[in-house]
Amino acid sequence: MTEQFETLIIGGGLSGLTAAHKLRIHSPEHRLCILEKSAVAGGVIRTHRENGYISEIGPHGFLDNCPESRQLLLETGLDKECVRAPLINFVRYVCQNGRLCCIPQTPKKILMAPLISWRDKLRILSELWTKPIQGEPTVAKWVAHRFGPALLPFADAVFTGTYAGDYNELTIDSVMPGIRALEKEHGSVIRGLITRMWRAKRSGQPSKKLQMPAMTSFPGGMSRLNERLAEELTPGVDILFNCGVDSIARRDAVWQVTSEGGIHTARNIILALPVNAALRLLQGMEPASPVKAIPEAWIVTVVLGFAGGSSLPPGFGYLTPEQEARFTLGTLFSSNMFPGRAPEGHIVFETLIGGRRHPERLELDDATLTRLALQEAREILNLTGEPTYSTVLRPEGGIPQLGRGYPQLLAWRDKLVQDTPGLFISGFGWEGIGINDMIKTADRAVAALLNASGTEEHQTEIKRVYF
Ligand SMILES: Cc1cc2nc3c(=O)[nH]c(=O)nc-3n(C[C@H](O)[C@H](O)[C@H](O)COP(=O)(O)OP(=O)(O)OC[C@H]3O[C@@H](n4cnc5c(N)ncnc54)[C@H](O)[C@@H]3O)c2cc1C
Repeated sequence: MTEQFETLIIGGGLSGLTAAHKLRIHSPEHRLCILEKSAVAGGVIRTHRENGYISEIGPHGFLDNCPESRQLLLETGLDKECVRAPLINFVRYVCQNGRLCCIPQTPKKILMAPLISWRDKLRILSELWTKPIQGEPTVAKWVAHRFGPALLPFADAVFTGTYAGDYNELTIDSVMPGIRALEKEHGSVIRGLITRMWRAKRSGQPSKKLQMPAMTSFPGGMSRLNERLAEELTPGVDILFNCGVDSIARRDAVWQVTSEGGIHTARNIILALPVNAALRLLQGMEPASPVKAIPEAWIVTVVLGFAGGSSLPPGFGYLTPEQEARFTLGTLFSSNMFPGRAPEGHIVFETLIGGRRHPERLELDDATLTRLALQEAREILNLTGEPTYSTVLRPEGGIPQLGRGYPQLLAWRDKLVQDTPGLFISGFGWEGIGINDMIKTADRAVAALLNASGTEEHQTEIKRVYF
């Protein structure tokens, strides 16, 4: 049996690294240790640097509209290193009938844009009088019911872009609980949003002008975030690598954690793991979890670089709704987004393939993936000559898919945490899937641990949709 810690953090991805950082900030003497299964920290956040090209194996960036993430950047000094691509300047496109249609970024511009007919626009406004749909509707069913079928390709693009998901499987209660709560409370999302604005105005809150956030990364790519957080830890002391945890058990008010490295004990444990990895460790807990696992969507990225003569349209990139029946899910114009992603005079873009709907495409070999991605890119983009660079990147993890039964899983998790002293749960897929969600949830788990309340109190957030 090894040394007893105050807190063991299981998982050294962004969630675990953030939890360790926050514990150190709020309680410098706290004896903590991260147990990480792999040989490096950072989980799915990984940057690929080769031949002067920088591309991402995992996330490409995060929006700068989350106070907890901004605070983390300030605390680590990373705020001075960030590179930002403001959404207001960087448009996105949806591929419709083989053409790239620019998606305006403000509600007024969206309403005025010739993306859908005036009849369909009036149908959107009839949402004000549309009764809430009962049960746990899928995103597709809910969008069609509330706003009409004309918005379906755009909703599809949004959930392909964020979850690599299938909006016929994701449920609105799981992916947008704040919006769903607004609908149920006010009978209409539009009415709910107007009421909130009106109440804020009446209570004297300064009117928030619609501010567009910026996509944020670092000059050398997203790995910088893990690298900076890992700098605060001494390997072999504060973080143990190649130390996958097999089981956890609580005995005599102490947690016993059995890992590849032996048995570790602590008063508290923070599970900073993707939902399915956490569920495996929580198997023996009472009451049992309502589900054994949730689905995941895996993707593969084909990175293509071109020399002068080829060009990218201005903006972030495009998404492809399923009805377009294309091979790829969408493409990020990486050299537009952040400086230094390609050698001088070159462009680079990253094309995403697979996702929830097409797992079979992940089985294709690299040469076939590259050939098919390139063929499709030539149909849509202005590309001349052969690529000067290509590579295929396969992420370390899948994206948790929040569908039917997920709200019940969260309720079970909340009750378990409340009833089990010293247990805290954060990580990929527990309340959202984005970097900002992870930072927020890890932050909250640490606050609960230090307050020894055991409950991770939070309010359901109303998230905005950005293309
Ligand atoms: C392909 C892809 C693209 C993405 N794009 C974006 C994006 O553009 N913007 C955005 O905001 N978010 C994006 N995300 C989501 C974002 O990357 C995640 O929210 C975040 O990185 C998850 O961090 P985590 O630490 O919770 O989980 P992980 O990164 O999965 O880390 C978990 C860690 O736990 C370790 N582990 C697992 N099991 C055990 C065990 N039994 N014992 C010990 N250790 C264990 C793993 O090795 C891993 O290091 C993307 C995710 C993926 C996969």
